[in-house]
Amino acid sequence: ASQAEEKDLVIIGGGVAGYVAAIKAGQEGMKVACIEKRGALGGTCLNVGCIPSKSLLNNSHIYHQILHDTKPRGIEVGDVKLNLAQLMKAKDTSVTGLTKGIEFLFKKNGVEYIKGTGTFADEHTVNVELNDGGETSVVGKNIIIATGSEATPFPGLEIDEKRVITSTGALSLQKVPESMVVIGGGIIGLEMGSVWSRLGAKVTVVEFLDQIGGPGMDTEISKMSQKILKKQGINFKLGTKVVSGDTSGDKIKLQLDAAKGGKEETIDADVVLVAIGRRPYTAGLGLDKIGVDVDERGRVVIDSEYRTNKPHIRCIGDVTFGPMLAHKAEEEAVAAIEYLKKGYGHVNYAAIPSVMYTHPEVAWVGQSEQDLKKDNIKYRVGTFPFSANSRAKTNLDTEGMVKMLADPETDRLLGVHIVGPNAGEMIAEATLALEYGASSEDIARTCHAHPTLAEAFKEAAMATYAKAIHY
Ligand code: FAD
Ligand code: NAD
Repeated sequence: ASQAEEKDLVIIGGGVAGYVAAIKAGQEGMKVACIEKRGALGGTCLNVGCIPSKSLLNNSHIYHQILHDTKPRGIEVGDVKLNLAQLMKAKDTSVTGLTKGIEFLFKKNGVEYIKGTGTFADEHTVNVELNDGGETSVVGKNIIIATGSEATPFPGLEIDEKRVITSTGALSLQKVPESMVVIGGGIIGLEMGSVWSRLGAKVTVVEFLDQIGGPGMDTEISKMSQKILKKQGINFKLGTKVVSGDTSGDKIKLQLDAAKGGKEETIDADVVLVAIGRRPYTAGLGLDKIGVDVDERGRVVIDSEYRTNKPHIRCIGDVTFGPMLAHKAEEEAVAAIEYLKKGYGHVNYAAIPSVMYTHPEVAWVGQSEQDLKKDNIKYRVGTFPFSANSRAKTNLDTEGMVKMLADPETDRLLGVHIVGPNAGEMIAEATLALEYGASSEDIARTCHAHPTLAEAFKEAAMATYAKAIHY
């Protein structure tokens, strides 16, 4: 091994958490190294998560729209054919462009990129098994753990990424399966289920809970989204638990059990997508060797300044507490470096938006109606349907609504929940309003351009304390 070199900061993991921390540290003039084992920067998000899934979602939506939604628009098309290989190539091109872009930003900000697998040798030294062979080690005054997460496996169903797949396999199937069963109706299940359903697979989503969308989605919005997805051809079995699977035959057989209201039965599938959540990834890191604490779910335990029980070792992103979202990881990365460099930093966990990139999208920020009820918080509701929005009408894309929750006494915004076209863009406005402590009247009295979908947002705000004009 070559001689260990001391850095101000060593980061293990080059995902969104790790690479953003590395760039920020470089900008702050720190001597920083980032260790990444996958051979490309950007982590799950850029390589096998956010980015490739959005490429497939966008292009499968266009394909589906051309097949089913052109005539009323006055467009007659001839033979429409799917070129799956090209669809995948377009995805790969987006991914490579972005991961290479981060390598460029590393160079620009003086970050040393070490390609290999990091393991703690002691509290300040990380040994790296290099991807190209050989070993090295780096010593850090400070270290950040940003090793991310991995798909939670389903006991008894071995993942081969061909017939029994996680999201990673779902991003690169080489042919459209006839039938696909998705275990778990969370965001991954619904996004990847949408892709393959649009491309022609018969998709059934089996969800243990009695609503889709995973934790946090407002129940009313979840129901509305489910209805729309069902119309698009996705079949749902809610309140139903997959208990076991048998992959020995031509078709995979899954045994379902009633959880709440569902029924016992066996269903067949050509491909099974396991999408029952993700778990923190710390395998091989040697945390036990240096005595860094993890909780019962494997999450690295941190304080409010991202410090582990070894204060010079911090931890951010999916591998610790909080929602497993790229933008949450990014906020933590910036805050962690600010804590390191300046002694203060901040992430407002009450204003982190969530987006499900189906069509229409579902997006929310703040508290849901069920959260408020559970906490006995009084609220007022204002809603506005896209069917009454002029832009949605011109786009012939009118499904969904904006729902706003505000404090009945102060009118302060408590939560915003949208199912509708471009909900994922619109939620930025809601997040800003929440961050600034806006009232629903503040939003309603802000002039919004016409005709835009964002007017539905303004009118929902109006409906929260008075009446909407156009509904
Ligand atoms: P990761 O991105 O997992 O990065 C950790 C990195 O550390 C990995 O590259 C890994 O190789 C590396 N590593 C681990 N151990 C070591 C080691 N010992 N040595 C060296 N390197 C190591 N979030 C959103 O906000 N929006 C979305 O649209 C979205 N879509 C998603 C779609 C899918 C299919 C999936 C699976 C996830 C999606 N997510 C999305 C979640 C998002 O990908 C994660 O929240 C985000 O990647 C977390 O970033 P991270 O840096 O904490 O971890
Ligand atoms: P999730 O936790 O969102 O959903 C998993 C679902 O599986 C839950 O609803 C759960 O009730 C269900 N489930 C668990 N066991 C089951 C069983 N045996 N039978 C039937 N249902 C079962 O997890 P996910 O969808 O796998 O996503 C993982 C993480 O990735 C999430 O934290 C998510 O935020 C993140 N992600 C985000 C985006 C996005 O922001 N657009 C996209 C993809 C993934």
